[in-house]
Parts: sequence; C-alpha cells; structure tokens
Amino acid sequence: MEPVLVSACLRGVPCRYDGRGRASGAVAEALAGRRSVAFCPEVAAGLPTPRRPAEIVGGDGHDVLDGRARVVDDTGHDVTAQFVDGAERALEAARRAGCTEALLMPRSPSCGCGTLYDGTFTGTLREGDGVTVALLERHGITVRPAPRD
Ligand code: SF4
Repeated sequence: MEPVLVSACLRGVPCRYDGRGRASGAVAEALAGRRSVAFCPEVAAGLPTPRRPAEIVGGDGHDVLDGRARVVDDTGHDVTAQFVDGAERALEAARRAGCTEALLMPRSPSCGCGTLYDGTFTGTLREGDGVTVALLERHGITVRPAPRD
C-alpha cells in the first residue's frame, strides 16, 4: 500500500508557527499499519520556526495558485511566494514517495482541507483549502483533514 503524506506537526515535529508540534493520537491511529511521510511545506520553503501566523486573504489556496489571492502574515507581510514554493515541495515529496493520499492539519493556510481562517486574523472560519492542499488535489492526490483527538 502506498505511503500517506502527513503534516509533520501532527507527528510531533515542532514546526508550527508557534514553535510547537501537535502530535495526534487520532492521526497515529488512522495511520496504523500504513507507511507515512511527514512533511512541513512552510519549513521546506525556508520559513523560520517560530514565525508570524499567516492567513489567505481574498480567497483560498486555489485562488492563490491562480493569482487571485495572497498569503500574508499578521503584520501584513506578503508570504505568498513561500507558501506556493512549499506546496510545490510537498507535491514533489509526495510524488517521490509514491503517495496518493495525504492527511493534513485542519485550518492551516498550507495544510487546511475544507476549512480555513478567513484572512482577518479574528479566528473567523470560511470554507476553502490551503495552498498545499489545492496543489496536491490538482495533481490527483486525495487529501483528507486529520481527525481530531
Ligand atoms: Fe503543520 Fe502544515 Fe503548518 Fe507545517 S505547514 S506546521 S505541517 S500545518
């Protein structure tokens, strides 16, 4: 069976914007018996840890890939190029390992699947996919949001 690409923070890697990991028992259970490839698109793109929180403004990851939306941090700094680069690196890692599925961190502007913060940094949610999710889906990789503990 093919390995599953998984958000590295869900495997306990301290790569989140706040410098922490988010090891998940529910994810470990969901991946039991499967090989997995832990990957953090934002770190792979060279962003530091910790880093300013970022959100997508003006759309979701599909809109970012199509040039209609941007990713900015909470100081207004544009990090769109890094997020797109991280998505491309995640796709490359998935292809190299033969992953056809991914299990990714909910709500992240990179890894969020189906639900995201809305770009106002107020904790408000909207429908949509992160930049990495959008790129993986466009290349035939099935992405699911990680189950909650
Ligand atoms: Fe986790 Fe994805 Fe954010 Fe990296 S980019 S910290 S893997 S949610």
